[in-house]
Amino acid sequence: MSEHSSSWTSVDQIAGEVLSCTRCVLSETRTHAVPGDGSSTAAVMFIGEGPGQNEDEQGLPFVGRAGQLLDSLLEQVPLRREDVFITNVVKCRPPGNRDPEPDEVDACMPYLRAQIELIDPRVIVTLGRHSMLRFYPQGKISNDHGRIISLGKRVLLPVYHPAAALRNPRLNETLVQDMKRIPEAVRESLLLRSSAPDGPAVRETAVAATANSANDTNGSTQTPLAEPSTDETSGDQDQMTLF
Ligand code: SF4
Repeated sequence: MSEHSSSWTSVDQIAGEVLSCTRCVLSETRTHAVPGDGSSTAAVMFIGEGPGQNEDEQGLPFVGRAGQLLDSLLEQVPLRREDVFITNVVKCRPPGNRDPEPDEVDACMPYLRAQIELIDPRVIVTLGRHSMLRFYPQGKISNDHGRIISLGKRVLLPVYHPAAALRNPRLNETLVQDMKRIPEAVRESLLLRSSAPDGPAVRETAVAATANSANDTNGSTQTPLAEPSTDETSGDQDQMTLF
């Protein structure tokens, strides 16, 4: 595999390499690699942490119960699954659904980086705490879910993982409300692109974070980004330098 994502010219080409990839030990236990699925010109990209059992069996992202819930959430936005792109940080299932190891994430990161570069989504919706921390390591999912975070030329919208809402139904309405912020996030991204020239990534600069979820207590707008948290942040996780 090339070390440079720029050598890939299409999302399908990336998928082809992922399907036969042996860059990390997850290749030894997977049934199918799961490159991702959806539109190669999607304005909205969903990123989970890694495939689960159903995804591993079928080679498609978010096809189990969590996937069914995600489909239902998309309908409420409304969005069609074929109009978005859905993928994960690592493309092969970690055994027992454990968290991926840092070296596995590092090995797989060129694929995700290239997918983002080629698809060039306006909004990245991270599904769950772990995925959020790859992009926004100072975040805390209980505080930052549903917040529209402008980073460089893209907008980040962290939401709870659908599986978390399945385990804890009280999160379901929060997840619904957070997902319904996607149109607003797209509008925010349009403002960003019209006001900021393309160029080197600037991280954590323009901030337009608003809190609107059912669990948030401050309804004010232009809320500063949260200070780095200590209880939910993994200090050894590298922030994606995509923005
Ligand atoms: S997780 Fe990523 S790097 Fe590891 S084998 Fe699968 S595709 Fe390759």
